[in-house]
Amino acid sequence: MFLEIFIKLVLHIKISMAKQEEAPMTISGQPCPMCNKKTMTLMESEREVPYFGLVYLFSMSCSNCNYHKADIEAEKAGEPTKWTIELSTEEDMHIRVVKSSEATIKIPRIMTIEPGPASNGYITNIEGILNRAKVQLENARDNAEEKDERKRAKNMLKKIQKIMWGQESIKITLEDPSGNSAIISEKATKSKLK
Ligand SMILES: [Zn+2]
Repeated sequence: MFLEIFIKLVLHIKISMAKQEEAPMTISGQPCPMCNKKTMTLMESEREVPYFGLVYLFSMSCSNCNYHKADIEAEKAGEPTKWTIELSTEEDMHIRVVKSSEATIKIPRIMTIEPGPASNGYITNIEGILNRAKVQLENARDNAEEKDERKRAKNMLKKIQKIMWGQESIKITLEDPSGNSAIISEKATKSKLK
C-alpha cells in the first residue's frame, strides 16, 4: 500500500512538471522504500502511443538493493476494461500493448500474468508479452523440482513457440480495472469489465 502511494506521488510530480518540460526527467538520491538508503532514482517520461494517446511512464530503481518498479498511466484513462484478441498470425506479434501494473493478462492453459506489488507497467507488443511468459516457463523447465512440472513447462513452451510462429491460434484477454491498459488493434474487442 505504501508503494502505491509513493508511486502516485511520483506521478503527480510528473504531471505538474510535464507542463514545463517534455524531456525524460530523472531524480536521483531519493529514499528507497525497501532499504531506506538514499540510493533511489526516479525516472519519468512520456510517450505518444498512436490510436491510444499520451502515456506517462515512470520507474524507480534502487542502486543499493536493486529494487525496481515501473508503471504507466494514460493521460485519458478509461473505465474498467476487458480486451480480447485472437492471435492467429505471425504479424499479430507486432500488435502494440499498453499494460499497467493493475492489468491481468490471461493466456489460456499457459499462464496468467497477475497484478500486484511485483507487477510492472510498460508499453510492449504481443511478442513482448509472450516472451515474458517464455522466460518464466524456461525457468520452470530448467529449475523445477518435479519432473512432471518440468515436462509441463516444456510442452507449454512448444505451444507458445507455435503461437509466435502463427501456427497455432489462441484467444488472450487483458483486464484492467484502472482503465490504463489497451491492446491496440482492429482485431481486438473492448468490453466493459464486470
Ligand atoms: Zn533500496
